[in-house]
Amino acid sequence: MMSLIVQKYGGTSVGSVERIEAVAQKIAASYKKGNQLVVAVSAMSGETNRLIGLANQIDEQASLRELDVLVSTGEQVTIALLCIALQKQGIDARSYTGGQVRILTDDAHGKARIKDIDSHRVESDLSAGRVVVIAGFQGMDEDGNITTLGRGGSDTTAVAMAAALGADECQIYTDVDGVYTTDPRVVHDARRLNKITFEEMLEMASQGSKILQIRSVEFAGKYNVPLRVLSSFKDGNGTLISLEDDDQMEKPLVSGIAFNKHEAKLTIRGIPDQPGVAYKVLGAISEANIEIDVIVQNVAKDNSATITFTVNESDLSQAERLLRNIAADLGALEVDADKHIGKVSIVGVGMRSHAGVAAKMFEALANDGINIQLITTSEIKITVVIEERYLELAVRALHSAFELGNTDVLKS
Ligand code: ASP
Ligand code: MG
Repeated sequence: MMSLIVQKYGGTSVGSVERIEAVAQKIAASYKKGNQLVVAVSAMSGETNRLIGLANQIDEQASLRELDVLVSTGEQVTIALLCIALQKQGIDARSYTGGQVRILTDDAHGKARIKDIDSHRVESDLSAGRVVVIAGFQGMDEDGNITTLGRGGSDTTAVAMAAALGADECQIYTDVDGVYTTDPRVVHDARRLNKITFEEMLEMASQGSKILQIRSVEFAGKYNVPLRVLSSFKDGNGTLISLEDDDQMEKPLVSGIAFNKHEAKLTIRGIPDQPGVAYKVLGAISEANIEIDVIVQNVAKDNSATITFTVNESDLSQAERLLRNIAADLGALEVDADKHIGKVSIVGVGMRSHAGVAAKMFEALANDGINIQLITTSEIKITVVIEERYLELAVRALHSAFELGNTDVLKS
């Protein structure tokens, strides 16, 4: 059966001329099976950083417009080389920059958002039997300026293209062979997931699993584009990221364990328990563009409140400074900063329909003597903040408590 597939190859997959030729072979094989193919590519690995480095040598405050003109060349090199390699294999292929295929974006240079794609040009190439190769990561604003979509943005190009074309699947070829139950460097029997939902992937990704640009997963979820993560270097089915299916039997309670070492915790104690206090404390932090994650408030018997929240470790000193100012304003008792914390979450759509998941999580942590400092939950996630040095121990304990390991073949 003929399918329309959008494929994306990341920087490592096209990191050398040899690898580009290997990618061309993979594309040719899929094409010869009768598939219609649109391919989005990244710059060769290291190239985007190299280009930014050149600009920095001249001016570290280079204008964002010119930086976009500069970094977009990385992808332009790859599309041409890949088409040359495809043509050498006898495949009719054509390359296009983002602007040429009318990937229309807003004008936010360096972090532009796609507004519209005019897919006509691509469609007519496809009907003429061509493979279409598109430069990832870039678009054009209404005035014809080159824009880029943010680091890792080629994933989003591929997903957006798949949405615009109504593709059957968007395949992201990368240097890992799929999404795992947790980081295999921490848990040796971590298992590749055959399937995961968009929502679960977002929770896994925002927790530090860096396989896909988060925005591309949001985009895929919004337009319901089935997304598959696969390895460019080894054969396999990878991980399919798609909508939740209704088949209750298939749903694992917990799909994965996400964790993040790079969190820090701030606490402000002895503030008045009054309307507007939480806003005063957290508003000032987020106005400084500091992302706040877990938030907990407690009120003591004497009516004084304590607010604890977490931020990225790299934002800690700025957040602490702001918090000390607010504390002075509010007459707070004290401010505490702790960067030796970590966050671990269990993620799974199966939690929606099962009670007792939290208790099981807390039991596993208690069995290893791990103290829980903060807890937050959502429908498909339970997060705890713990002492950083116990983070990997906690991940392993939870991975085995929820039987996510390799031996558990039934759940795949
Ligand atoms: N080349 C760009 C980057 O390094 C975009 C991408 O690879 O997705 O961020
Ligand atoms: Mg990437």
